[in-house]
Amino acid sequence: MGKILAFIQLDDGQPNRNALEALQGGQQLAADMGHQLIGVVFSASSPQQLQFKMDEIITVAAPELEHYSADTYVAAMAQIIAAEQPDLLIAGHTYQARDWLPRLAAQISRPLISDCIGFQKGAQITWVRQVFQGKVHADVTTGEGLAIVSFQAGAFRHDRLESGSPAIRSQEVDLSAVEVQVRAGEPFQDTKAAVDLSRAERIVAVGRGIGDEEKLALVRELAEALGAELGSSRPVVDYGWLSHDRQVGSSGQTVAAKLYLAVGISGAIQHQVGMKNCGCIVAINKDANAPIFEIADYGIVADLFEIVPRLTAAIKEHRSA
Ligand SMILES: Cc1cc2nc3c(=O)[nH]c(=O)nc-3n(C[C@H](O)[C@H](O)[C@H](O)COP(=O)(O)OP(=O)(O)OC[C@H]3O[C@@H](n4cnc5c(N)ncnc54)[C@H](O)[C@@H]3O)c2cc1C
Repeated sequence: MGKILAFIQLDDGQPNRNALEALQGGQQLAADMGHQLIGVVFSASSPQQLQFKMDEIITVAAPELEHYSADTYVAAMAQIIAAEQPDLLIAGHTYQARDWLPRLAAQISRPLISDCIGFQKGAQITWVRQVFQGKVHADVTTGEGLAIVSFQAGAFRHDRLESGSPAIRSQEVDLSAVEVQVRAGEPFQDTKAAVDLSRAERIVAVGRGIGDEEKLALVRELAEALGAELGSSRPVVDYGWLSHDRQVGSSGQTVAAKLYLAVGISGAIQHQVGMKNCGCIVAINKDANAPIFEIADYGIVADLFEIVPRLTAAIKEHRSA
């Protein structure tokens, strides 16, 4: 039976959300390919939150893995791959994965297909990734032997993970000879002002349709009423009305919220790339032909200045009832 290793990144001991989404992709792959699914955590114990359907979880404890370094991660995973001989290694396309997976692929001379949004079954698995700013979907296949695949945030749904009680097995690695040449600094989203929209469950995003910085208060109030983070399209950031960490899209963040409410956003491809995998997309736009409606689950063709205050009032009323 073939093996799929799913690397589950832990952030302060908690499973990273993008890693859990990739794990859900792993569950689908294991079912489709008839392979074993084995989680791998770089930790002495498996966190409680990993009660998901997997054949087992390998825990890897080493003092060198306590703080992220591409050098130690690559060396540890290379040793696990040598021991397990998997057919596939999957991971979420996190900032860390972007750093160490290409180095791993180069070191063990195996292909890496990065930032995939899904896969297609067939005699051989075809990996789907976006190219040319998301305008084209490329189908990628690899030859025989191990392939390394990372999945974009939102490619799969962590809330659809099948539960289970995987067996836990610890595996030793020897990292004493690893020369650490690259040390990671503090994660940038930990700085006080920064917002990590990729973790937000609800996002109210505002576009150029708002017209004026002062009017942002309307949308801010709606976001507060919904308990949502405020996001935006690029022009709102370019005008300096919101900081860049609020921008969603190809040159901003990729988000996977359960609810994405787009207010006065046309839905250009560069914006869609960052949000089209959200669970439920609601769009408010006065132009019925705006491209955002092509991917919206619910569309309101109306003037946002009329709709947003009414929506905010209705939500507040509902919450206080
Ligand atoms: C290399 C590159 C990278 C890019 N990266 C990004 C990115 O990361 N994120 C991003 O968002 N964009 C990005 N862009 C820009 C992108 O192409 C679009 O220009 C941008 O997304 C448009 O933003 P918008 O929808 O807010 O504005 P517009 O396209 O101007 O749309 C405004 C919308 O508001 C509607 N509207 C106006 N008034 C009202 C009203 N009163 N009530 C209701 N609706 C109203 C209009 O009908 C219109 O549909 C990038 C572009 C390039 C070339």
